[in-house]
Amino acid sequence: MKRRNFFQTSLGAAGAVLASTTVQARPNLEPAPQAVGMLFDSTLCVGCKACVSKCKEVNHMPPVAMGKDTHADFALDLSFATHNVIKIYTSGDGSKKDQEQNGFAFEKRSCMHCVDPGCVSVCPVTALTRDPVTGIVNYNADVCIGCRTCMTGCPYNVPQYDYNNALGEIHKCEMCNQKGLERITKGGMTGCAEACPTGATLFGTRTALLEEAKRRLALKPGQVYKYPMGDVRKPDSFHEKVIPQYKNHVWGEKEAGGTNVMHISAVSFDKLGMPPLGERSHASISEGVQSTLYSYMALPALALGGLGWVVKRNTEVANKEGGDKS
Ligand code: SF4
Ligand code: SF4
Ligand code: SF4
Repeated sequence: MKRRNFFQTSLGAAGAVLASTTVQARPNLEPAPQAVGMLFDSTLCVGCKACVSKCKEVNHMPPVAMGKDTHADFALDLSFATHNVIKIYTSGDGSKKDQEQNGFAFEKRSCMHCVDPGCVSVCPVTALTRDPVTGIVNYNADVCIGCRTCMTGCPYNVPQYDYNNALGEIHKCEMCNQKGLERITKGGMTGCAEACPTGATLFGTRTALLEEAKRRLALKPGQVYKYPMGDVRKPDSFHEKVIPQYKNHVWGEKEAGGTNVMHISAVSFDKLGMPPLGERSHASISEGVQSTLYSYMALPALALGGLGWVVKRNTEVANKEGGDKS
């Protein structure tokens, strides 16, 4: 077979493979059957950071000190020593709470416990897993190889690497349910929800929390409402406050396939630093591409087989012609 014919035939086969390849995204995963989560209501948050302290206490994490002589926690962002942080949005003179103009608002940052988690999807060794019953996204340091791929798979920049640990380790909120703690499995609630003095961080099932969020959004601004505190299914107390002018948006109901930790606010989420996300989960797209490419690996093999047949046929013809001449 001449070199030019070989390239022509190869390109033709490759073109046929590409033409017949359509990348299929798999559907988003559905919430786990008994998914638990949290609802953060920014309008209830007073920025006291009791949730940050409780998170550190429960998870045995050190304070992030500012200077050598301070022992208080000054964590400004998530890190290997901080699984939960309260951030602030300010505008203009910052005088009015929960207003976009000349106002301020608080926003909680911790793992969102995605329904279809990108970190789980990209981890090459299943060190990150979604609990099939509760939907909690857990981490197993014994399995982790420290490759940090999960950091690229998370749209919220949540997994944090401990660069001081010679073995390398990822840190993130595991909803206070990791091995040895298991607050949720034992019938308790998350540390941050338990400590919150206003109910801004509320624990419960995803279904009950979503109902509670929609109830608040449907109420008339100015009306007094008794906000449940602790666990939405069995509140230990209530916090009375007037309903603010909420944005009609439950963050996490649908974003990137949904999350078990959801947020509501009177300030738009882009101002609070949430990433722009569609409804399709990143995991569903990337796993769809992978599975399509792997399934189409059969086609190059078929193309190679076809080329082999052409070479064999041409060789036989050439031999025959050579034989006829002699
Ligand atoms: S927020 Fe990030 S770390 Fe948490 S479950 Fe989602 S992808 Fe994973
Ligand atoms: S659920 Fe637990 S680990 Fe997660 S932010 Fe709250 S206290 Fe911290
Ligand atoms: S404990 Fe509650 S009110 Fe205080 S900072 Fe945390 S979420 Fe806000």
